[in-house]
Amino acid sequence: MTNLADRDWFQDPALKTLMALLNSGGAETRVVGGAVRNSLMGLPVGDIDLATTLLPEEVSGRAAAKGIKAVPTGIEHGTVTLVIDGKGYEVTTLRRDVETNGRHAQVAFGATWQEDADRRDLTMNALYVGVDGEVVDLVGGLADIETKTVRFIGNAEQRIAEDYLRVLRFFRFFAHYGSGRPDAEGLKASARARAQLKTLSAERVWAEMKKLLSARDPGRALLWMRQSGVLTEVLPETEKWGIDAIPGLIAAEQALGWAPDPLLRLCAIVPKDAARLVTLSERLRLSNAEALALDRFARAPKPQETVTDVAFDRDLYRFGKDGMISMLKLELASARVNAEHDQKAMARSARLFALLKRAEGFVRPVLPIKGSDVLAAGIVAGPKVGEILGKLEEGWIASQFNLTREDLLARLETLAKS
Ligand code: ATP
Ligand code: MG
Repeated sequence: MTNLADRDWFQDPALKTLMALLNSGGAETRVVGGAVRNSLMGLPVGDIDLATTLLPEEVSGRAAAKGIKAVPTGIEHGTVTLVIDGKGYEVTTLRRDVETNGRHAQVAFGATWQEDADRRDLTMNALYVGVDGEVVDLVGGLADIETKTVRFIGNAEQRIAEDYLRVLRFFRFFAHYGSGRPDAEGLKASARARAQLKTLSAERVWAEMKKLLSARDPGRALLWMRQSGVLTEVLPETEKWGIDAIPGLIAAEQALGWAPDPLLRLCAIVPKDAARLVTLSERLRLSNAEALALDRFARAPKPQETVTDVAFDRDLYRFGKDGMISMLKLELASARVNAEHDQKAMARSARLFALLKRAEGFVRPVLPIKGSDVLAAGIVAGPKVGEILGKLEEGWIASQFNLTREDLLARLETLAKS
């Protein structure tokens, strides 16, 4: 018997309150999913999901009676989110999936614990912890956690056909929690189902890929995704480019203390080509901020080792430091790999490291003259204003940002007369 009653997260007063509230009067509620899995693996516990014999309206009713906020976040699937001290707990009624079409499920409440476990995707995600802290394993999940085996519950092919997103979840959980090779049956079924991934909504695919790319080391998962043809299906841009840059990037992250960044990992496996990255951003419906980050990366020029600090600052000003930093990190990661057996690469990596530090410390100066100044100098509103402002900016950049407002106003006067 495995018991988690003494774990810190399980002792949390808010969770205790919820468990007491939802386990009285014949109701039974258990923690399920990621919290149980992570706790058993000795990893930090994030969001806490609960499964309950209560119907959604009974969950809301009990919460309301105690003044706890209840939000119907997924009511058609039986999910109510209870909020205590700003933290949300997803409470989902035991259910069976009665009709599935690869994307959505019709659900029926009043299921048994076994049925609720069986409708989940992976054995390591279907473990429960009861109010007494006892782990309930109805699918052989404990053994798979022991061996870090990511395995579908039941027949892999059938489980994937119910919801094709499970192909990506299989690789995502392998990236975070798997060891060795992925489960052979799951891998084969994923490869067979790959063509169906295009039926999924872009938002679900990108959300899943982002989580996969956030793993401490997604290298092996990406390798198997590529090998099974799944990666090409969701990221055709990686086809010719390949994923060879990933191990070097992971090594650099770990050696230099860079936090895992899903977008930087993405940049490492796609061509540095603005037009193709726009297509990718639109296809997967990236957020504006994410699309902008990719675009800035694509446009950032690769520096020569011989670049002067002055010229480099100009690039930082023109192309923005974020895109430059992404580009430098990837260049540095790749130089570090070669530096092991190549003197030149060693020198390059030292220079790139210095440039990276410089980029990180760069504060973008603000041009000390505006369009209104140009108008005040007597230029009529129109394209000429931008033209003159552009010339002034060029001169200011060339001066290493040293020209003062007075200098620029003097230049403006001359330009206005010509
Ligand atoms: P995370 O740490 O990312 O939150 P999690 O395991 O809690 O991981 P969630 O996406 O929060 O994952 O889902 C909670 C649980 O719901 C999962 O553990 C799994 O049992 C079940 N689940 C979620 N999505 C699916 C799916 N597409 N198919 C089957 N079961 C699913
Ligand atoms: Mg969760």
